[in-house]
Amino acid sequence: DVNIREIIETSLQTVEKQAKDKGINLKVGYPQESLTIRTDKDKLIRVFVNLLTNAIKFTPHEGDVEISVTDTGDNIQASIKDNGIGIPPEKRDKIFDKFYQVDSTATRKAGGTGLGLAIIKGIIDGQGGNIFVESDNGKGSTFTFRLPKELKEEDFTEIEQH
Ligand code: ATP
Ligand code: MG
Repeated sequence: DVNIREIIETSLQTVEKQAKDKGINLKVGYPQESLTIRTDKDKLIRVFVNLLTNAIKFTPHEGDVEISVTDTGDNIQASIKDNGIGIPPEKRDKIFDKFYQVDSTATRKAGGTGLGLAIIKGIIDGQGGNIFVESDNGKGSTFTFRLPKELKEEDFTEIEQH
């Protein structure tokens, strides 16, 4: 089992410089008790780093990016909220598709290939979780994902025995 706090601290270290260079303020809110989850550590770090990188990339200088983690019983729920450019309503489902970028000119400037969200959605769905976005166009976006603390039996891929 991995401690969610450790995962987030490691993820924050990875994006620290990127945030600092843009004057972006990173905040985290954890629940009081320590939360653990049965998952692949590196994959979960990848999820946080991807969402944080996006939040920093699509938020203007001096913006705010905030992570909050809650315990919902069977699941851990994490939100990454920014006060950046937002996502138009009709594009909100498409951003999870491979290679999709809302604005190819703005994103070309910002870099990337449009794979980040497709990869992390694969990781989250593959562990019986889900991810969604809420956004106020022009005012910011919040990405929320839930992951079960324990893998359920039906989430394991069946291996045929011979
Ligand atoms: P890559 O992740 O491969 O470096 P990318 O960041 O462009 O490239 P995704 O992470 O898959 O690709 O995101 C897809 C698109 O969704 C982005 O190009 C951007 O248009 C939009 N997007 C993602 N996160 C945000 C955000 N926090 N605010 C505004 N738009 C976002
Ligand atoms: Mg990305």
